[in-house]
Amino acid sequence: MSYKNFPMVPRVIFGRGSFNQLEEIISPKRRNSDAPFIFLVDDVFKGNAWLTSRIPLAYDDKLHFISTEEEPKTSQVDELVNTIILDHKERPSGIIGIGGGSILDLAKAVSIMLTNDGSSADYQGWDLVKNPAIYHVGIPTISGTGAEVSRTTILTGPKLKLGINSDYTPFDQVILDPELTKGVPKEQWFYTGMDCYIHCIESLNGSYINAFSQSYGEKAYTLCEEIFVDDKLSKQESQDKLMMASWHGGMSIAYSQVGVAHAMSYGLSYLLGIKHGVGNCIVFDHLEDYYPEGVRLFKQMKQKHDINLPQGVCADLSDKNFDTMIDVALSLEPLWENAIGKNWKTKITRDKLKSLYKLM
Ligand code: NAD
Ligand code: ZN
Repeated sequence: MSYKNFPMVPRVIFGRGSFNQLEEIISPKRRNSDAPFIFLVDDVFKGNAWLTSRIPLAYDDKLHFISTEEEPKTSQVDELVNTIILDHKERPSGIIGIGGGSILDLAKAVSIMLTNDGSSADYQGWDLVKNPAIYHVGIPTISGTGAEVSRTTILTGPKLKLGINSDYTPFDQVILDPELTKGVPKEQWFYTGMDCYIHCIESLNGSYINAFSQSYGEKAYTLCEEIFVDDKLSKQESQDKLMMASWHGGMSIAYSQVGVAHAMSYGLSYLLGIKHGVGNCIVFDHLEDYYPEGVRLFKQMKQKHDINLPQGVCADLSDKNFDTMIDVALSLEPLWENAIGKNWKTKITRDKLKSLYKLM
């Protein structure tokens, strides 16, 4: 047995208004006036002076507003890297991602591809990255994915939806300012928050569970209960706690693995472009056979917050479509092994998955 020796985010600042310290945090990392900071910002903040006026642009720094209508693609990463190289005299001093999981993943991938040759698609998988990334900072504006702590950046490529999992992927610095999440719409708050809840359920109920993952997973689970079930917190407490739940949920899966909902949600996302948070919810709603207690509580939270999940997303699909989703889902072997156990292949058949997808 060989144990994972995994890197953690070395620096993190937490607190409402800590975003104001961005300039003092990154200034020492500026190599020279020709080596810019590149800010990748969710375009939901375009025209939002409350946030953008605090982005400390200087010298040759550049702010790119990025649409998150679709999740990050390898082609998008490659284009952005090319633009950055063409636009500036020197390689950047740093990449700063400000947004949700989509932007955080994009920032991680761009920082890796600025120092590694070829296409980002070449690095989808485990430990394929050769050179350290350039300095990269993650600033979440919505809580739940755990992308701020993880050692992966999930990209949709020509063949696969798969992460660049590497020791160079985690951020060098994270700024956790819960105030930045105040504008998140309710449905999105629920979907991305449930990503965290599902991370906990899948980690805590998986065969890879261990004391390390359990300690983080149980904390995140309790925080999710306070936020989504008990519902007695002030808005600010709830924002603060969900940001920490996301962090702990991410730490929990760092040393275990996710499970059935994530494997099947990747299939939905690959074929239909359904985003991670809502996709997980659509799948999880039908997983009572695998996570009975977790699904029961999920349905209760859904009702409490008056969430209507999309229905019938697989209604008009062809057999070929189902095969594509099933191929994507089954390719994620560690997730199934974690969820079901070593002999998962005897229990998880293509027919089983098809019948589950047909319910969605
Ligand atoms: P997202 O980044 O796609 O954002 C969802 C929506 O919320 C967008 O419309 C965005 O504009 C909006 N939004 C974000 N912050 C806002 C704010 N403060 N105010 C108003 N609107 C705001 O959603 P997400 O759920 O955070 O991330 C999903 C992505 O994360 C997927 O691409 C998924 O693959 C990835 N992911 C990565 C990891 C990882 O470990 N790297 C883990 C889980 C998910
Ligand atoms: Zn997830």
